[in-house]
Amino acid sequence: MTKNLAGTSITNWNNYPRKEAVIESPLFEEDLTRFLIEGEPFIMRGNGRCYGDASLYSGVVSSLKLNRILQFDENAGVIRCQTGMLLSQVIDFILPKGWFLPVTPGTKFITVGGAVASDVHGKNHHKDGSFSNHIVSMRVLTPQGKIVVCSAHENSELFWFTCGGMGLTGIILDVSFSLKKVESGFITGKQIKARELNEILDLFDQFKAYTYSVAWIDCLKKGNSFGRSILMLGEHARKDEIKTRKIYPNTSGTLSVPFNFPSFVLNGYSLKAFNALYYAKNLKRSVQTLTPYEKFFYPLDSILNWNRIYGVNGFVQYQFVVPQKNGREGINTILKRISEQGWGSFLAVLKQFGSQEGLISFNTEGYTLALDIPINAKLFSFLDELDKIVKEYGGRIYLTKDARMKPEIFHQTYPHAEDFTKFLAATDPDKKLVSYLAKRLELK
Ligand SMILES: Cc1cc2nc3c(=O)[nH]c(=O)nc-3n(C[C@H](O)[C@H](O)[C@H](O)COP(=O)(O)OP(=O)(O)OC[C@H]3O[C@@H](n4cnc5c(N)ncnc54)[C@H](O)[C@@H]3O)c2cc1C
Repeated sequence: MTKNLAGTSITNWNNYPRKEAVIESPLFEEDLTRFLIEGEPFIMRGNGRCYGDASLYSGVVSSLKLNRILQFDENAGVIRCQTGMLLSQVIDFILPKGWFLPVTPGTKFITVGGAVASDVHGKNHHKDGSFSNHIVSMRVLTPQGKIVVCSAHENSELFWFTCGGMGLTGIILDVSFSLKKVESGFITGKQIKARELNEILDLFDQFKAYTYSVAWIDCLKKGNSFGRSILMLGEHARKDEIKTRKIYPNTSGTLSVPFNFPSFVLNGYSLKAFNALYYAKNLKRSVQTLTPYEKFFYPLDSILNWNRIYGVNGFVQYQFVVPQKNGREGINTILKRISEQGWGSFLAVLKQFGSQEGLISFNTEGYTLALDIPINAKLFSFLDELDKIVKEYGGRIYLTKDARMKPEIFHQTYPHAEDFTKFLAATDPDKKLVSYLAKRLELK
């Protein structure tokens, strides 16, 4: 990183925190080695779709111009690309050839590097695990300037601490990963309403055989309707299921939110009204669906800058997981605290994770809930309280969604936190790769 340049003000998807940074956008891998050897400390940044400070520091290096496909084996369905490639660019290339991403988060506007560094999960975690489960191998430029090839079987400690390691173990240069064979760009599915929390948790178990499952949950409801939800299930559609349409749908158009909404627009009344309308959108308890993949996986991507509805102060996405063992009770207790306090959210998403190996990944077998909450003066102390409950249930908070967790919570909830900090101290003694998240959580 170059010294003494004027900074630019940047922030990630949730618009909090906002920081000044000197940003470099290299075209060549060699520049990255030069920054590490000669420059000031920095952090890698993909497309800034994390919610917090993981890709923010006084020095930032963007991967977006390092976005070439290096190899594609169309028969085996394995792609190798540089890590600045967006998932949307990968899909545009592979889908017409009958392949899809093995795992995808709720937006396609993230980079492959971001997918590895956060070890992202999708709606199929209970079946297919997270992104790291599909990596054949990757090349990582370590903080000391050495390029190391790693995988689950080769240099495996570096590999497992890099998957979910939030860019602190090295710069991921390129990744080779396997794809999912599909016959179309459509998803056949089912939507089922659940009247209350136990019912939705039962439905997850009942419909485990579906590849994709996710529930929208109304976190403002109390009493008999506490936890009412809609479960959305899906499978990639076969050709014969979409006879009358084009097999691969065109990329859909987008709308845009032109400015930050004033804070009064989002209040308890508007949230309740939205939730009531959303729950009532299907008259029947269960409906069959056939939707283009974009509408199923990325419903929010069609509204560009939707993050502006939370206003200039930004918002927090609180995502935690509680282990399966006492997960029902954990979700019940935490959701109750949220609905009692009226900290509702338009976007409250519940998923069930399958079992997962890994050293520092967020994902572990159990239930995960994610809610978007606009920032105000009382929010952080409330979330500190929730963190303690999550900890009591043996759960943890997702680092890529975090902007405010206290270091002791991270160190007490991630089982390999101590090994991770020791690994970082040993492999980056000069603290070349640093983010505000790393500082806040006392990782370096
Ligand atoms: C609408 C929306 C829906 C989402 N849904 C999900 C979901 O369902 N599941 C899920 O798991 N996540 C989800 N996310 C979170 C998102 O997938 C992650 O935060 C992802 O890491 C963002 O990638 P990015 O390319 O934008 O990277 P950034 O946000 O810029 O950075 C994220 C992390 O990756 C590191 N990084 C980026 N590139 C490299 C590299 N080349 N080498 C080393 N480190 C690197 C950064 O240092 C940082 O720590 C969602 C986000 C949004 C906005």
